Amino acid sequence: MPETTRSVDIAVIGGGIVGLATAHALQTRFPGASLTVLEKEAEVARHQTGNNSGVIHSGIYYKPGSLKARLCVDGARRMFVFCETHGVAHKRSGKVIVASNDAEIERLEDLRKRAAANGVPGVQRVDAKQLKEIEPHVTGVAALWSPNTGIADYTGVCQALKREIGRAGGALMLHKEVTALREHGSHVGISTNQGSLAARFVVTCGGLHADRLARMMGLSSDIQIVPFRGEYYFLRPERAGLVRGLVYPVPDPNLPFLGVHFTVTTDGKVEAGPNAVLAFAREGYTLSEVNPGELSRTLAFPGFQRLARKWWRTGAYEIYRSVNKAEFVRSLQKLVPALHSSDIVRGGAGVRAQAVGLDGALVDDFKFLTSARSLHVINAVSPAATASLSIADVIAGQTPASLSN
Ligand SMILES: Cc1cc2nc3c(=O)[nH]c(=O)nc-3n(C[C@H](O)[C@H](O)[C@H](O)COP(=O)(O)OP(=O)(O)OC[C@H]3O[C@@H](n4cnc5c(N)ncnc54)[C@H](O)[C@@H]3O)c2cc1C
Repeated sequence: MPETTRSVDIAVIGGGIVGLATAHALQTRFPGASLTVLEKEAEVARHQTGNNSGVIHSGIYYKPGSLKARLCVDGARRMFVFCETHGVAHKRSGKVIVASNDAEIERLEDLRKRAAANGVPGVQRVDAKQLKEIEPHVTGVAALWSPNTGIADYTGVCQALKREIGRAGGALMLHKEVTALREHGSHVGISTNQGSLAARFVVTCGGLHADRLARMMGLSSDIQIVPFRGEYYFLRPERAGLVRGLVYPVPDPNLPFLGVHFTVTTDGKVEAGPNAVLAFAREGYTLSEVNPGELSRTLAFPGFQRLARKWWRTGAYEIYRSVNKAEFVRSLQKLVPALHSSDIVRGGAGVRAQAVGLDGALVDDFKFLTSARSLHVINAVSPAATASLSIADVIAGQTPASLSN
């Protein structure tokens, strides 16, 4: 190791909610170890974490026994406590999942069973009349009511984690883009845009760049991150009363992240969306942001080609709805018929880091890859913000005990 290279016990790459929660959990497990978080942006939570819907999911949707199911239920409970303890804005706002027709009632019932199997507290089936009592402007034939779903300011959570990491002696290095990783016998060499570092153990939580960081370490996998942009509208403040809490449609079990919904934010706004359109850059927050290299790697990936062949109609519809406000409004009117086009204005967007397998399937569960001196979070899609504190404990538990020496 060159003498000029700074050396730490643990390096965490990525200052999103998963990276910061992981750094905090590692400090708790290894109190004597030195730790540094490396983040390429000027501040934490600039990508998925700072541009998501802000929902503390209760764990209804996920396959029983999966990491998502277990860590979401546990993580939601812990996220409420964390926000309370650290003074981060949050609210147990409650959520309805609305069946718009009789055909959706069967799927609603499947979801109720899942919620029970996952141990989600308080979920109950309500009829059309009870739905009106909870959400007077929402129309449906039946719904699931989840009183323990909530909202949180996840950027605020990251700021609190950042303070805790600093208090425990950890360092946060901003503007540090990791460009290469190399495993040696006793350490991992980390090259960045500004100098290098050596760490006894590395955890990567790179979100939209998760697969690249694993590949830098020489870990091969069939998985590639495909970026899907989710665009939002805001309800005009004078129409925000159309919705009291969170209002979702019954999801398509094959493409669970589709289906625009209403969410209330911690600062009292109502968001409508997000949709899901292929982004032309990993950090492509608008239609015009195109990274030709990244786009061509997505299009050339056989997993994406298989995905596109199977779902091209759905993908084309999402693009059409992205550019056609009237169509977006029509989707929302299924839930809130009184909504008009003039009630909503364009909001921001987030980009989901969706891991896709070579077979064209969306990687459903949270997924990690490991080497002797590293662990890579390769798929941390929704509800990873909700589950972040529990994901972090799983990662800390998989980190070699020898780091405490
Ligand atoms: C539109 C949208 C809505 C969502 N809604 C919800 C929701 O309501 N509830 C919920 O629980 N989840 C939701 N999610 C999912 C949730 O936001 C993510 O699962 C979670 O934020 C992932 O956190 P992360 O830390 O893994 O990734 P990120 O927040 O993306 O952080 C990764 C970080 O790694 C950094 N990085 C990457 N490469 C490098 C490098 N080479 N060197 C240094 N730094 C690097 C990036 O700059 C970034 O800051 C949503 C996601 C989106 C996009």
